[in-house]
Amino acid sequence: MAFSKGGDIEGVKEERSEAIEALLQLHSQILQCQKCHLWRTRTNAVPGEGKLDADIMFVGEGPGNHEDRQGRPFVGPAGRFLNELLSIAGLRREDVFITNVLKCRPPNPLDPERVRKPTTDEIEACRDYLIAQIALIKPKVICLLGDTALKALLDRNMSISKVHAHPFVKSGIVYVPLYHPAAALHKESLKETLKQDMLKLREIIDMVMRSEANTACVGIKG
Ligand code: URA
Ligand code: SF4
Repeated sequence: MAFSKGGDIEGVKEERSEAIEALLQLHSQILQCQKCHLWRTRTNAVPGEGKLDADIMFVGEGPGNHEDRQGRPFVGPAGRFLNELLSIAGLRREDVFITNVLKCRPPNPLDPERVRKPTTDEIEACRDYLIAQIALIKPKVICLLGDTALKALLDRNMSISKVHAHPFVKSGIVYVPLYHPAAALHKESLKETLKQDMLKLREIIDMVMRSEANTACVGIKG
């Protein structure tokens, strides 16, 4: 939490509780959303979960079958690997916020066991929810897991293989593209890359938090 006015803690607290209330309302809206055709095939929409005023946010692609059944993000095999990756970066699931670009599972008619890539139309329909979540949670660092999140939030023309673990600053938020954990489950060499990238992520987070603390000190002194 930033003490931007040199210690106006009550005001900040009130603002945060209003934001948390708005976020919970947004999540109940997502649970009933019919803005794109994916509502017809979902079991549950998956708004996301974690700390509602987290400093660190993780954004994946969209719910898979496990997530669709449970209504929670990253609870299948990719989720188990994500948990392992979080601990490498010294993070706990309950201290970060985890969500996806799409809130409903894109079913694969050719293979019911797997999902397919989201279409541009589906991403466009759902993107405002993610933008609203970011505006309410106000994270300092957003980790983009895979190409879909990278393209939806940062830059259409970037490729994860070129920019993974490189921080980008946009509108005061530090974005860190990372390989999607599911990609690493299919390609052994990416597992090691992702683990190394989590150590770099830790350094980036420490740097961001240090500069935040310095800014707060300057604010109090001034
Ligand atoms: N893959 C994703 O992108 N998100 C999930 O929630 C699970 C798997
Ligand atoms: Fe609504 Fe997003 Fe689900 Fe489409 S994917 S129905 S836009 S919540």
